[in-house]
Amino acid sequence: MVKKQIAILGGGPAGLMAAESLSSAGHTVTVYEAMPTVARKFLLAGKSGLNITHSEDYDRFVSRFGTSNARLRQALDGFKPSDVRAWAAGLGTETFVGSSGRVFPTAMKASPLLRAWLRRLEAQGVQILTRHRWIGFSDGGYVIEASGAAHVVKPDAALLALGGKSWPRLGSDGCWLPWLREKTIAVDEFQPANCGFDVDWSEHLRQRFSGEPVKSVTATSRVGTIPGEFVITRHGIEGSLVYAHAAVLRESLAAGETTTLDVDLVPARTQERIANALGKQDPKASLSNRLRKAVGLDGVKVALLRELASATDLNDPDRLASLIKALPIPVQRTRPIAEAISSAGGVEWGEIDRNYMLKALPGLFVAGEMIDWEAPTGGYLLTACFATGRAAARGIDAWLGER
Ligand SMILES: Cc1cc2nc3c(=O)[nH]c(=O)nc-3n(C[C@H](O)[C@H](O)[C@H](O)COP(=O)(O)OP(=O)(O)OC[C@H]3O[C@@H](n4cnc5c(N)ncnc54)[C@H](O)[C@@H]3O)c2cc1C
Repeated sequence: MVKKQIAILGGGPAGLMAAESLSSAGHTVTVYEAMPTVARKFLLAGKSGLNITHSEDYDRFVSRFGTSNARLRQALDGFKPSDVRAWAAGLGTETFVGSSGRVFPTAMKASPLLRAWLRRLEAQGVQILTRHRWIGFSDGGYVIEASGAAHVVKPDAALLALGGKSWPRLGSDGCWLPWLREKTIAVDEFQPANCGFDVDWSEHLRQRFSGEPVKSVTATSRVGTIPGEFVITRHGIEGSLVYAHAAVLRESLAAGETTTLDVDLVPARTQERIANALGKQDPKASLSNRLRKAVGLDGVKVALLRELASATDLNDPDRLASLIKALPIPVQRTRPIAEAISSAGGVEWGEIDRNYMLKALPGLFVAGEMIDWEAPTGGYLLTACFATGRAAARGIDAWLGER
């Protein structure tokens, strides 16, 4: 095999995974990373307990990527959730399945895994150049800015693994969109995914209940009914249950529709049973007492009912029961993309061939969150970033082999 020079632009999970595959295939790999260190978002993900993949049935797993299910399938088949776990174990990070089926490193952190991964990459000869920012195309190559100077690199093949646009201060800021568009590559504007939403809370709710979790509920939108919990924030709502509905809520808002997330505050009881229990309460008792005695509701759940129901609703057992089972929380807009866990949008699938190469720019490949797919939280994001990094590496190897 002829050893080839490969440039990887962006040192997140997708880029590093491609670097691992290509260097083990014998190529000379240089990773150009704009930030002072690589994989900052991966490390941040580890702060809240790195959810590296999911243990659910594989057929279910591959159905989590919406309109991108079919396009991502080949990459995921090449690096399944079981492969992610085996790969982490190979780097000394054992994983376990949490109660929700999500998979985490036993240490819950990303840093030991990243350290071992970087040692492996170094041992395989991968050169990682931090504070090296790709700033566009020139003269048939890629312009890299480092230490205030720009130079052009002309590798045999290159991979863009520049990430999406959430948490831009960690490095992925989407600054590359215009450069690809100038090359007539269609790139969908980035939008927040797995994000919170603004709700016009009263000052009372905001002051008293910001930061309060709303636990053991279900929430319903067009995506279906999902159990879980969410958090009341100063601005509105966020948390895993909200993220699970975020894509459809975002689309509904974009279509100009009145948009609500309908929350069942007591999923274990039927509306009829709740109405009966409420009907037996002394109508002169306070709302808090009636709700506590009849349904066991208190704290933030009672506050939400007070916030969103009219006085007439609160005093009618049937109407109150129906609101307890489906309390519509009106959402105004998504929180800014800078706060989102991930982003939707990016390089459109139509621009990318089966090998993850840009059809219009032979020799230039793409991987990770910068491609136009989205998925809920649950380890799907990292798994797809790893998998597309590996798929692009196979594509690069195959393309170079054909030349
Ligand atoms: C708070 C938080 C928690 C998360 N938790 C989880 C989780 O538990 N499980 C999960 O599956 N996912 C999680 N994610 C999502 C996951 O981290 C991302 O989907 C993943 O990191 C994307 O990988 P990537 O390699 O495509 O891009 P990124 O990780 O964004 O990496 C892209 C890299 O490219 C670099 N770069 C950008 N532009 C340039 C340029 N012009 N030149 C050179 N380098 C450049 C960036 O600095 C960055 O290092 C979380 C995200 C956040 C924000």
